[in-house]
Amino acid sequence: MGKIKFEGIILYKTKFKNTSYILDVFTKSKGRIPLIARGALRDKSKFLGDLEFLNHLYLYVYFKNSRNINTLMETEMIENSNFIITNPLIFNKLGEIVYHLRRTLLQGENHDKIYDKFILMLKGIKKNKPYKAILYFFYFYLKFIGWDIKLTIECSCNNPGENLNYFDYENGEFYCSNCKRGDKINNKIILIIKQLLSPKSKELNISKREFLDCYNLLLKYLKYHIS
Ligand SMILES: [Zn+2]
Repeated sequence: MGKIKFEGIILYKTKFKNTSYILDVFTKSKGRIPLIARGALRDKSKFLGDLEFLNHLYLYVYFKNSRNINTLMETEMIENSNFIITNPLIFNKLGEIVYHLRRTLLQGENHDKIYDKFILMLKGIKKNKPYKAILYFFYFYLKFIGWDIKLTIECSCNNPGENLNYFDYENGEFYCSNCKRGDKINNKIILIIKQLLSPKSKELNISKREFLDCYNLLLKYLKYHIS
């Protein structure tokens, strides 16, 4: 097929034969694809610094077919991921998210909607809104792979005015303390996620504690369905 230009993000790299890297790249047009960057570990490599975790790049690939590992010819930086490495908590959470992306999105499947949200997340982190950016991405990622979270106003028992402080990891629904379905959670979680998705999200300020409560709920929900 010849030389093709991809837009993508480096998700993972592993050393191959002392001088090369095998890469797992999340591309906009073809989802996750494996690439080989020959000579990337040599001192005068043309890829120097470009193949780091979460760098956003144009990748020029000698593309034969999507079943094999194709050869990376050249790269052109769009956005360097240095701004992520400076925040250890955010770096750690992104590592966790990427680990699960690689387990849930199969190589060769197109996931352009998830890709677009991923880029949006990186932009939000760069604009110093990492908590909102990560939770927003995580919510849509779960939704796009088929595990929606039901953001209802009231518990399904129709008992009005009850706080929704239980979450059932099996069906993704919130429940009140009369119904007690699932695990007890911080009752602000549903309010935070709802506001995050609403036009009023700009007014939302999320504390670190609230971020972790929401993040852990989303992660536990994901793990419940993939393990
Ligand atoms: Zn109820």
